[in-house]
Amino acid sequence: MGAPLTGSSDHGWKDGGMPDSEDVVTHARERRVVVIGAGVAGLVAAWECARVGLTVTVLDAADRSGGSLAPVEIDGLTLDAAHIDIAPGDPEAEAVLHLLGCDTVSVPDARIALAGGGPLPGDELLGIPVNPWAPEVRRIIGWSGTWRAYLDRLRPPLTIGREPRLGALVRTRLGERVADRLVTPLAAARWETTPDDLDADAVLPGISTALTRTGSLTGAVSQLQAHPEPARRALRSGFASLVAALDTHLRDLSVEVHTGREATGITARDEGWRVTTDDADIHADAVIIATGAADAGRLLEPVLGDVEALVAVDEVDVVTLVVDATDVAQGGPDVLVFPRGSEVYSATDVTARSPQVGPARRVIRVVLAASERDDAALAAVAAASVTDLVGASLTSSRVRGVARSRRVAAGTGRRVADSARREATRAMIDAHEGLDIVGGWLAGGDVADEIGDAVRTAERVRHGLLWGREPDLGTP
Ligand SMILES: Cc1cc2nc3c(=O)[nH]c(=O)nc-3n(C[C@H](O)[C@H](O)[C@H](O)COP(=O)(O)OP(=O)(O)OC[C@H]3O[C@@H](n4cnc5c(N)ncnc54)[C@H](O)[C@@H]3O)c2cc1C
Repeated sequence: MGAPLTGSSDHGWKDGGMPDSEDVVTHARERRVVVIGAGVAGLVAAWECARVGLTVTVLDAADRSGGSLAPVEIDGLTLDAAHIDIAPGDPEAEAVLHLLGCDTVSVPDARIALAGGGPLPGDELLGIPVNPWAPEVRRIIGWSGTWRAYLDRLRPPLTIGREPRLGALVRTRLGERVADRLVTPLAAARWETTPDDLDADAVLPGISTALTRTGSLTGAVSQLQAHPEPARRALRSGFASLVAALDTHLRDLSVEVHTGREATGITARDEGWRVTTDDADIHADAVIIATGAADAGRLLEPVLGDVEALVAVDEVDVVTLVVDATDVAQGGPDVLVFPRGSEVYSATDVTARSPQVGPARRVIRVVLAASERDDAALAAVAAASVTDLVGASLTSSRVRGVARSRRVAAGTGRRVADSARREATRAMIDAHEGLDIVGGWLAGGDVADEIGDAVRTAERVRHGLLWGREPDLGTP
């Protein structure tokens, strides 16, 4: 890597002290960052580096930027491949969206129903009921489940310090029926994993303190509900607008974004790195890997050694169905969750989020455990799962178009095992100056997590290039 600006007189800065602004600009221009992957994480990292004047090159193997956020074409409609909502609360992510001019609107609470089990009461949190005697809850867990859940109020409190796993915590406090029939379907729908994988405090922030304070899990949920988290936000013009805004800002800063250009290898050199593509070797003072997990593993293996355990993430298949809406029931639930053991995690009616769809069609998104099924078989499983959502069984003639994509499970980053995996990955990367990594598979499967993490990583990279490495800024 080239010498950073340290203020040492060896660099010949005026007065032999701090560099002046011209020195900094020239120095920044002479430093090249190569970002591999033009999904949202890579584009944000590239923008953050280019904004301080670094020379930035972005490579993406696909023929367009945006990665998983690139839109899909179905039945003549251009639709967001993603659900279009992001978690609020990450200040870096909110600042980026604001600077990019991407307006957000809050997403109304969804009406959730259990497939074959009817609607949920609506005041539960991840399936944990506030009132186990509510008729909707009793219908699902039965009288014996209700009595067992009621014992929660009579048992001594248990702090999450002793039980971090959501599933085990619920089972201990409220019994098997609440855990299996309510929390498991809701955890699968929201976080695409089992409650025993999930860190209770990461998915229900404040639950441990509330449990200690109120002495019961139902009481803790009731207390969290009294101070609800801010609603999730949707981008007013969809995720495509975020990608378009990033593309424009990168162009304005003269960042080269090469699509259709796959990075096939990275090699450490005496000074910096060499990034290899099919037709060129590019010198980089710093490399930011912003691909998915599997591609990151391939690129990192020659540098770091065995990375298989580090890049192992759960993935899901997402099937978007555009269906004929004539004689389809209106006013049903927005989200359908599925009983324990189902390979389908959730089915969501996202029609209202795509105004161009019109009244004759509905857009339904089904999320399933990743499988090797072919497209037709996967579409058939997805279509068969949505009966309770559309109020009728969906014959193939009603399906006007289908698209399939794969992404990391939403719970990535919130599982009990994740913080150790993330720390191990970061520690291995940290040992290599000028090499960094961003992306949903490491930061968390939520766009807000990814943006915040990309901002913090880019800050470390540019600090390293301009001023020398500093101690870890504390990436969460
Ligand atoms: C259907 C779907 C629904 C979603 N819904 C939501 C949602 O509602 N809310 C939410 O917050 N998030 C959602 N997400 C998740 C979110 O879209 C992703 O987590 C996020 O876009 C991942 O961004 P990324 O930059 O980490 O990776 P990606 O978007 O996967 O980008 C990685 C890029 O790297 C490129 N690449 C890979 N290997 C190479 C190589 N060797 N050389 C060059 N380029 C390479 C790929 O072509 C790709 O463009 C959804 C995702 C999908 C697919």
